[in-house]
Amino acid sequence: MGYSCYENSFTIFFLFMIFRKINSADIYENLLNIKQITLEVTDACNLKCKYCGYGDMYFGYDNREAKYMSFHQVRLLLEYLFIIWEKDRPDSKIPKTYISFYGGEPLLNMNLIMAVVQYIEHQTISRDFVFSMTTNAVLLDRYMDYLVAHDFHLLISLDGDKAAQSHRLDTSGRNSFDIVYKNIAI
Ligand code: SF4
Repeated sequence: MGYSCYENSFTIFFLFMIFRKINSADIYENLLNIKQITLEVTDACNLKCKYCGYGDMYFGYDNREAKYMSFHQVRLLLEYLFIIWEKDRPDSKIPKTYISFYGGEPLLNMNLIMAVVQYIEHQTISRDFVFSMTTNAVLLDRYMDYLVAHDFHLLISLDGDKAAQSHRLDTSGRNSFDIVYKNIAI
């Protein structure tokens, strides 16, 4: 009998966990304590990987139109967050907030990224930020010094050796291994 009661209360708890609806207070709480903001700074890319989720092997995704996010769009979001963080203090135990740049290939919109970094670094808000980026590294040699100076965390897409990289092609259909490897081996 005792076991059965335990089992029933566990089931109720489990159902509550599955079906509880989030509400506006939950969303606000999460915005106050947000740990990562990921910005798709462009849907353009300088590679044409065979298995790309936006490529020929898939369907049902939104059209890639080589759009570039503007600084105005990012500033609207950040201004709102800075206001609520000032008004209703976040949990002081939350770790740093990651500002993550994503694409497409984010290095194609480096002007925006530099503007966002400058904007955040000039804020007086008491919160620590870390910049991160997911990149195919094709343009890494151009911006490496800047990324190091601002302590970026990089996630570089490389499938392995040259044979393994054979599905990651440039827009002329050539294997991208040599240029990527050269850029990350510097
Ligand atoms: S680098 Fe990424 S976004 Fe660009 S084609 Fe390859 S998988 Fe797609």
